Amino acid sequence: MTLLTNSVTACTGTLIVGAGQAGLQLAVSLRENGYSAPITIAGAEPWGAYQRPPLSKSFLNGDVDEDNLSLRATDFYTENAIDARIGTRIWDIRLAASGRGGEAFTGDGRVLGFEKLALTTGSRPRRLTIPGADLTGVCYLRSIPDATHLRTLLGVAHTVVVIGGGFIGLEAAAAARRRGLDVTLVESYGRLLQRVVAPPVSAFYRGAHDRRGVHFRLGSGVIALHGDERVTGVELSDGTVLPADVVIVGIGVEPRIELAHRLGLTCSRGIVVDESARTSNPTVVAAGDCTVQPHPQHPDTLVSLESVQNAVDQAKVAAATLLGRNRPPTTVPWFWSDQGDLKLQIAGLSTGFDDFVVRGEPDSESFSVLYYRDGHLIAADAVNRPHDFMAVKRALSLGSTIPSEEATNTDFTLKALIRAVDAPLPAGRRP
Ligand SMILES: Cc1cc2nc3c(=O)[nH]c(=O)nc-3n(C[C@H](O)[C@H](O)[C@H](O)COP(=O)(O)OP(=O)(O)OC[C@H]3O[C@@H](n4cnc5c(N)ncnc54)[C@H](O)[C@@H]3O)c2cc1C
Repeated sequence: MTLLTNSVTACTGTLIVGAGQAGLQLAVSLRENGYSAPITIAGAEPWGAYQRPPLSKSFLNGDVDEDNLSLRATDFYTENAIDARIGTRIWDIRLAASGRGGEAFTGDGRVLGFEKLALTTGSRPRRLTIPGADLTGVCYLRSIPDATHLRTLLGVAHTVVVIGGGFIGLEAAAAARRRGLDVTLVESYGRLLQRVVAPPVSAFYRGAHDRRGVHFRLGSGVIALHGDERVTGVELSDGTVLPADVVIVGIGVEPRIELAHRLGLTCSRGIVVDESARTSNPTVVAAGDCTVQPHPQHPDTLVSLESVQNAVDQAKVAAATLLGRNRPPTTVPWFWSDQGDLKLQIAGLSTGFDDFVVRGEPDSESFSVLYYRDGHLIAADAVNRPHDFMAVKRALSLGSTIPSEEATNTDFTLKALIRAVDAPLPAGRRP
């Protein structure tokens, strides 16, 4: 690519690359903490920061429109002196040899100078690389155009195949069923949400979506998509061809780390940052889906947390770091996924659990699974059970626990069962 560097826009302040959830929060937090120098946010998409979660839920269902997705009104940017360069992709960045500031290069030949730099570039959907992957009717779900296109197709489709039994795939399947379409979900693992939940939660979601009319092909690889111009079928590894006039692909995301690579920043499955959102170059911070960070309890392990909560909280940390302030208190990771009328809320990180208990009855479609490691509560998945979610989130934020022996007793609220780690069980409640 040829860079035309004939137009330099001086920027003495902070440049945030990526106008999504994390980028906007970073700008907000800088201003809230008294930062008065210029702030520029460069965003490749032609919109200011918007909410992505509705794209696979209410927006896909047609319950909300594009206008309802903005995180802030246009006035907010002017009122807070935030220079939002919408529709501006940054193609390259060079840091000054002095180690202070640098220049960023836009696709249309402009140069943005900066003193401080933050990368909040998010991620993109992982794409299929099998024959037929480029056929019309094969859809991904990340942006407003993706969701608008899919919504239009679902309006005229009859048969939908969803590839991927993760959150996006299940939410999209629920939305397609709500329209009465014939939906089959294909997943290469033997169970749904395999990498993120315990077997009872996977089994629950399979049963619940099955009751709502979704067909499943678990443990099935997809080897080709059929069709001339438009997709007409999905070929599985056992030779079955599932008819499809729309294929929704939800097989995970890849962080956008091209700029980080150009800057020589350490990357693995994302830009590697520390607890303060600092990259391997301590003058550059990063936040959101583009990062991997130390696991809150096991700092030697890096985790990628693709959630609104992480984008927001990590951006607050990044802002504090840019301002040379103390890091805000560590927060408990949390996440939600609405699949039709099934509301899943997750508190904490269950990776590495060695025990779990089920509270409530999955058949009632209201239950929780609490995860333990070395006897301590580390996380919970709550299905249509917001009080359980809140109690576990609170216990984790206090550094407390909920004894597994007691957690299944629905005569008590989980809130009432929170106690200090190592506190003895009350008399009469011993297992
Ligand atoms: C369909 C969908 C449903 C979701 N549902 C949930 C949910 O229910 N619960 C939940 O917690 N999370 C959910 N998420 C995840 C959540 O939306 C993301 O974790 C969050 O948006 C991450 O924010 P971010 O700012 O890191 O990245 P993004 O929101 O992706 O923003 C990054 C921005 O940077 C821009 N950019 C990238 N490179 C450049 C460049 N070189 N120059 C300029 N701009 C650039 C991108 O175009 C993008 O606009 C969902 C995501 C999707 C896609």
